[in-house]
Amino acid sequence: MDHDDDDGATGPTPRLEAMDPPAGGVARRVALAPGLWFVATPIGAARDITLRGLDILLSAEVLVAEDTRTLRHLMEIHGLKVGDRPLIAYHDHNGAEARPRILRALAEGRSVAYCSEAGTPVVADPGYQLARAAIEAGHPVSAAPGPSAAIMALSVSGQPSDRFMFVGFPPAQAGARARWCDEIGSIPATLILYESPKRIHRLLGELCEHWGEMRPATLCRELTKRFEEVRRGTLGGLRDGIGDATVKGEIVLVVGRPMVVAPDAADVDAALQEALGRLRVKDAAAEVAEALGLPRRDVYQRALALKEGAE
Ligand code: SAM
Repeated sequence: MDHDDDDGATGPTPRLEAMDPPAGGVARRVALAPGLWFVATPIGAARDITLRGLDILLSAEVLVAEDTRTLRHLMEIHGLKVGDRPLIAYHDHNGAEARPRILRALAEGRSVAYCSEAGTPVVADPGYQLARAAIEAGHPVSAAPGPSAAIMALSVSGQPSDRFMFVGFPPAQAGARARWCDEIGSIPATLILYESPKRIHRLLGELCEHWGEMRPATLCRELTKRFEEVRRGTLGGLRDGIGDATVKGEIVLVVGRPMVVAPDAADVDAALQEALGRLRVKDAAAEVAEALGLPRRDVYQRALALKEGAE
């Protein structure tokens, strides 16, 4: 987790805003079913936690957190106490040692709540191996859904949301990064990337090279926090806009899908003529439509016209 957001030109931006504990509290103690409960937590603004998430944190018999201090702090803000319940640390560096203890609690029929440091557990955060192990051992796994920087960035990006793909952090090593760019650049979907502020200049430069400067993109910084910023434009525009300036805070980059260049009519006809020599009209049209990314119905009409013209 990047903590650069705490020392920047934009001023300190605490992950969890200080506020008075709610009088009496809003959380309700519930009879929580045994099993593993993932609880999404705020990505900045402390009040971005659901009432159900708070109910689960109040009621779970065992609490597990990527960062136990962050969870304690969040619970304090919302007037919840850990009390005498176990609070177990579970993060990238101790997963193998901590998992058996958590699985034992699940096997004893306890309700276990897990929070990563911020946002939705498992999304570029620990929790996947824990979920797999719990599922394999036959324990129920559920969640209190809530904030995720990826989804909020998509919402505010202005990029198409009908098909999107979360691709996480790009690899740090140059060769792997170049392969990664080539591999995912042509996916016909909006792409959501996480990147550290230290590497965002380099990333934008490389994406311009691999994916083109004109590709639409939105840079989202410090979402839900005091210095939230959303810049919409193109990869080239974002790269030039940032220039050499120091960038602080947490970042999500949302990149629009590659622009589809409409194939030339003569190319469509040539592909259809070739396919009609081997296939029935319907199959030829389907094959060409798929290969050229064109609407099937249009290609079918053109295939019929070519076939009739040839007879
Ligand atoms: N599980 C989290 C989620 O659901 O978004 C993501 C955790 S990942 C370790 C941390 C990365 O998420 C950051 O480096 C940044 O790319 C992104 N991120 C988290 N909070 C953010 C925020 N408030 N604004 C922008 N990006 C954020």
